[in-house]
Amino acid sequence: MSCTTGSSVCREVRQESIGVPMRCWCGRKVDLLVSKTNENPYRRFYRCQGVLQRKYESHLFKWVEVAMPEEFEEQRVEIGKAFSELERMAWEISGLGRSLKSEMGKLEAHVCQLENDVKVREAEACRNTQRGVVGVAPHLVLAVCVAGGLALVYKALCG
Ligand SMILES: [Zn+2]
Repeated sequence: MSCTTGSSVCREVRQESIGVPMRCWCGRKVDLLVSKTNENPYRRFYRCQGVLQRKYESHLFKWVEVAMPEEFEEQRVEIGKAFSELERMAWEISGLGRSLKSEMGKLEAHVCQLENDVKVREAEACRNTQRGVVGVAPHLVLAVCVAGGLALVYKALCG
């Protein structure tokens, strides 16, 4: 970068900064100043605070109209990255939602199956209980008949 500020010639900066500079390569802060030269009247620029103390080193100098478009471009790129990240996150959340919905469907089906199993077992238990009553009755009848027969035999033999 070559430029002129007043009577002094701006030398090339050691480390090119993109956008609005905050600090010079030397670590000093940067001032926002206004040119008072006939060549660049009222033109604004950034300059290292150390430039006057160390005249022979090339400290940061940058016109505002050069820095601003770079700054906007930087911001545009950052916003683009942020949007991409948001899109990726939205896609992930959407995927998680689909996965969750699928898992919920499986769980509902499982619960439904368990409810059916419980109903089937209750019905079986109910049938077994009824069958148990019916099943005991013939044995009871047989037992009563056998006892009666034995009583008759005993009476006939001993009576
Ligand atoms: Zn500096």
